[in-house]
Amino acid sequence: MKKEVIVLNCGSSSVKFAIIDAETGEAGLTGIAEALGNSDASLSYKLNGKKEKQALPEKAGHTEALNAIAEIIASTGVQPIAIGHRVVHGGEKFKGAALVDDSVLEAIEDYASMAPLHNMANLKGIVTAQAAYPDLPHVVVFDTSFFQTLPKKAFIYALPMSLYREHGIRRYGFHGTSHKFILDSMAKILNKPVSDTSIISAHLGNGCSVSAIEKGQAVDTSLGFIPLEGLVMGTRCGDIDPSLPGTLQKKLGKTADEISDLLNKQSGLLGISELSNDCRTLEDAALEGHEGALLAIEIFCYRLAKYIAGYMVAVPTLDAIVFTGGIGENSSLIRETTMGYFAHFGITLDEQKNTDARFGQGGKISAENASTAVYVVPTNEEWVIAAEAATFA
Ligand code: AMP
Repeated sequence: MKKEVIVLNCGSSSVKFAIIDAETGEAGLTGIAEALGNSDASLSYKLNGKKEKQALPEKAGHTEALNAIAEIIASTGVQPIAIGHRVVHGGEKFKGAALVDDSVLEAIEDYASMAPLHNMANLKGIVTAQAAYPDLPHVVVFDTSFFQTLPKKAFIYALPMSLYREHGIRRYGFHGTSHKFILDSMAKILNKPVSDTSIISAHLGNGCSVSAIEKGQAVDTSLGFIPLEGLVMGTRCGDIDPSLPGTLQKKLGKTADEISDLLNKQSGLLGISELSNDCRTLEDAALEGHEGALLAIEIFCYRLAKYIAGYMVAVPTLDAIVFTGGIGENSSLIRETTMGYFAHFGITLDEQKNTDARFGQGGKISAENASTAVYVVPTNEEWVIAAEAATFA
C-alpha cells in the first residue's frame, strides 16, 4: 500500500497543499489557495498532471479554503496516512518533527512572538485541518529544527547575553527542510553516509539562504532571528547596518512596523532594481541593459559568493557546493556570476553543464579539474515533510 501524506503549508493569505508519496516523493496532487481574505480568493491545483482552477467564496479564509481542499482530496480517493504541517518557527524546543498535541500547539503560539505572520497562520491551518481530519496523525515539521545543531559561536549575536537567556534572541536559521533534503540527496549522489557528507548548500528562491553542513550537521546558516538576515532575497534586504532601522524610522517618520515592511517587502532584488523581485524578469531586463537589473544581479551574486567563501571556514571537509531553489536550479547566469568569484580557489564551472542544468535537471556543473565539486540539485521540501509525518503514522 502507498504511504500517502497530505502536506499543508499555511501562510498568512495562502494555503499550499499536496498529496505526497512518502516513499518516492511523487506528488499526485499539488495546489494553492491564494488571496485568502480578499475578494479574489481562488484555488488552483494540479491533479495527476491536469491543471484545475476554482473560485472560492468572496473573502474566503483559511477554514473555507481547507474545506474546499478536503473535498478535492476526498475526490481523489486517496487514503492519507498522516498530515504533515510546515511550521516556520520551532524555537529551541523542537529539534525534529513532532506529533501535534496541546503542548505542541501552545509552543507554536509562544514562538509566534518571533514569527508572528507565519506561526499564527500555521497554527490556524493545523487547528482547522484537525477538525477536518480528526482521525489522522497531525505532524509538525519546523523550518528551524535542522539548525539546532549550530554551535553557539554561530548562533549567538554579539549582544548582551541576557537577551538570549531571557528573550531567546539568537540566530535560528530557516529553510531547514530544503537544506536537509539537499544534504540527503548529496549523500546519495556521492554514495556516502549522511554523517560523512559535508556541503555548502545555497537555497535561492524568493527567500534565500546558504548553509554550512559539516559531516551531516548544520554548523552555520545565513538566516538569523527571523528570515531576513544574510543574502539579498526577492524583496528582503539581508544584511544591513544594524543602525539603519532606527535611522530610517526617524528620517522617514515611519513606525517600526512600516520599516519592517520596507526591509521585508520592498527591498532585495526589487528594491535595488526598482523593477521586480523576479529573477527571470531581471535577467531579461539585464540583457536589454537595464541598469537596476544589472546592479541587483551583481549585488545578489557578490553577497552570495562572500557567504559561500565564508562558510568554507566552517566546512573543512567540504565535498560540494550545491545550488537549489527556483533561482539556484534554473539560473545559469546567477550560478556562473557567483562561481566566477572562485576561480582563484581553483573552483570553476563547466560552461555547457551549467547551461544545461535547469527545469528540474540537476547534476554536477563544475569543471573536471575543479578543486571542489559544484552541483545543482532540485529541492523537494514537501517530500521531507511527508517522510517525517509518515514516521508517526
Ligand atoms: P522559489 O521561491 O523557489 O519558487 O523561487 C522563485 C524564484 O525563482 C523567482 O525569483 C523566479 O524568478 C526564479 N526562477 C524560476 N525559474 C527561473 C528561471 N528559469 N531563470 C531564472 N530564475 C528563475
